[in-house]
Amino acid sequence: MVYVINFDNTPLMPCTSAIARLLLKQGKAKCIKRTPFTIKLLYQTTNYTQNITLGVDTGSGKIGSSAAEDNGDVIYLSEVEIRNDISDKLKQRSKYRRNRRNRKTRYRKAKWLNRKNSIKSDRFSPTMISKIKSHLKEIKFVQTMLPISRIIIETATFDPHALKNPAVLSNKWLYQKGINYGFANTKAYVLDRDNHTCQYCKGKSKDRKLEVHHIIFRRDGGSDEASNLITLCKTHHDDLHIGNITLKGGKTKGHLKHATQMNSIRVQLLRSLPFVEETFGFITKEHRQLLNLPKEHYMDAVAIASQGNEVQFKTNWVLFKKCVSDGDYQQSKGVRSEQRIPTGKIQGFRKFDKVRYLGSEYFIKGRMSTGYAILMDSIGVKVTLKPIPKFNKIERIQARKTWIISQETIQNIS
Ligand SMILES: [Zn+2]
Ligand SMILES: [Zn+2]
Repeated sequence: MVYVINFDNTPLMPCTSAIARLLLKQGKAKCIKRTPFTIKLLYQTTNYTQNITLGVDTGSGKIGSSAAEDNGDVIYLSEVEIRNDISDKLKQRSKYRRNRRNRKTRYRKAKWLNRKNSIKSDRFSPTMISKIKSHLKEIKFVQTMLPISRIIIETATFDPHALKNPAVLSNKWLYQKGINYGFANTKAYVLDRDNHTCQYCKGKSKDRKLEVHHIIFRRDGGSDEASNLITLCKTHHDDLHIGNITLKGGKTKGHLKHATQMNSIRVQLLRSLPFVEETFGFITKEHRQLLNLPKEHYMDAVAIASQGNEVQFKTNWVLFKKCVSDGDYQQSKGVRSEQRIPTGKIQGFRKFDKVRYLGSEYFIKGRMSTGYAILMDSIGVKVTLKPIPKFNKIERIQARKTWIISQETIQNIS
């Protein structure tokens, strides 16, 4: 699968690698991107495109996205790892600054609420801004490669409106017949309410498998409402049904940071992308299980994009992207800032540049002014190489970007 861009930069339908090879050989196209492989036509053709739906599984840690045609052909799969290091880095910077100012004690005028940010009303933290922008960036990235006609995003695990009135779920296009969406929604809500923790042992059993249990059994007339449901781990659920343990009334914990962040992301995404359609995690989960797909963020996205209909994988490449900072700003290090840190290029190399060394592709993790580099793989794990690679043995194949991209094949899909 090769992505194709028209002469005027509008995206066209992707083609097979055989056709792409032919076009490149005949000089009718040129390669403009290597990961994912994208070619640009050197002549204008008519924009004949089919309907493509982009499904996005939003998240505060990882974003899954996938594009599918109306006939169920899956033509794009990706997983984006969002930055979660910003808060720590800012704290570190402020610590350094505090230290420096205690060291260099010239008179500084007292400052109070003098920053634009501290008086802004609906301010987002730098972490949140980065998270929201990562979502928008991924959507835009796909839109430049594929003629996306419709976008569906999963914004939350359950639909709060449908809890009281499951009738709002009855006649929407996204529903496959035979699934009790009302109950699936309530289940998703109960898991969220109970913090995805067994309410008997509060997670002490380390059993990761959770079940939603009816406090008053269904056969005794217990309802499917949230008030009659409770989250239990499989161990304790089994124990309870055998009669080894009994339930005591337990309080459930409130929302975590994750839930608050997800709600902000949701509001901002819907505001920035008014044309998108919204779906919920409980629907995705039912559809993913119906399609018998593994539990991965990009597979959730497949279930979203296909709306639960049968799919055929036309690509088995998954793009893994890890968001990184867009520059090095730290200038100095050391007790009296005597140690300057180079933020520009060293012998033509910058941090996060994609490089080729001894036939394999890596990213630059660290550089030494003595001419050596520390390399890492695409998920940011340091690669130990002996001897330490020298710059003159390394070929720079791509300048740093705000994410590092790698491509991997997945097995066992049709
Ligand atoms: Zn338990
Ligand atoms: Zn039960």
